[in-house]
Amino acid sequence: MWMMIAMDTWKVCPQLITVNKEGTHYIGYINTSQGRQFKVQIELGPHGQLKGARVKCEWALQALLEGYGHVLQQRLNQASNLTSFLEEFRSFIERRVEETSNTVPSSSKLCGDLMQELEHLGWHRLVSVDPSFQKIQLKCEDARGRTHIIKLQLHAQHPEKPPSCQVDLPKLFDFQWSVQGGLSQLFEQFQQCLTSYQDFWDQVGEIDKQTWVLEPEKPTFSARHRRIVLSTSVSLQLSVEPDHPRQLPDCRFLGSEQAIQPHQDSFNRNLHLWDESVSLLANLQILLEQQFPSPTTSRKEDFSMECGICYAYRLGTDIPDKTCDDVRCGQPFHTTCLYEWLRGLPSSRQSFNTVFGECPYCSKPITVKMPTTVG
Ligand SMILES: [Zn+2]
Ligand SMILES: [Zn+2]
Repeated sequence: MWMMIAMDTWKVCPQLITVNKEGTHYIGYINTSQGRQFKVQIELGPHGQLKGARVKCEWALQALLEGYGHVLQQRLNQASNLTSFLEEFRSFIERRVEETSNTVPSSSKLCGDLMQELEHLGWHRLVSVDPSFQKIQLKCEDARGRTHIIKLQLHAQHPEKPPSCQVDLPKLFDFQWSVQGGLSQLFEQFQQCLTSYQDFWDQVGEIDKQTWVLEPEKPTFSARHRRIVLSTSVSLQLSVEPDHPRQLPDCRFLGSEQAIQPHQDSFNRNLHLWDESVSLLANLQILLEQQFPSPTTSRKEDFSMECGICYAYRLGTDIPDKTCDDVRCGQPFHTTCLYEWLRGLPSSRQSFNTVFGECPYCSKPITVKMPTTVG
């Protein structure tokens, strides 16, 4: 009887052979019509029965059949003989091979194609690639020697579908994708984009180098905002337009009303002097009739922008945005800190959402509105 089974299985799986004389243990290969080959071991149950039989698969086949174990076990138990099970098993594997190759290219093909694409790009541009060949980081040096990174997450259907890109640019990176162009074409578009922002980075770079920038602490390439020190009690918040960095940017003065006023006056008085042929920093200094405090002329500690109550600059996402109105004091506070401080003093008075009290530094009258975050 076992000879019969062996003869039949030979027709379905010519590379599957019995390895014991009882004919209950098979080792060999299942070949699919797609040209794939998987190693399997089959141990029949007691008395050479299919019931209780066990099938061991190689790793790649296990991965392919993941989640279908119970289905196969059921088919194995219900099959009339080993040959019919093997026929069913093989066509099931073929179906899985088909399905998976439609959704995800086989990793070796993807890897090979990717190697070619990277070769074409130049290996010196590659920063990293993850073991699954899905996440790639490339670098590009711009005309001024600044190094930029582009992080790519390849689509499961790469190169038919575009990868998703993570870049550090002041505006959205809107790229065109084509199968023929691939990563090289994408990289070229990234380079063009970098070229278009050179003047923006030059202009904000000069500000970063020659003034005290309070915000952001470590400007990224995408940061359009800068908060710079004008004096001990006033700072200027700028929002620079990446495509036209030498245009008059959005400007907002931060400090007490009295301290801001002279800056605001010269700003309005000199607006007509704005000249896009000189740098952004030079224009701002002309506009405000002053040289801004810079690392070459002053220390950052000279401009105490920390909150006078908690001595920190950042409180969560808040920065000190309330300043004592007395020009000789001008001490900044976090609204939350000042509100809590004044509310705790018996000398303070509250009317609706405003607290009236005394500046903790100079004892001059000071008012603060209830911060929105405090209940
Ligand atoms: Zn504070
Ligand atoms: Zn004060």
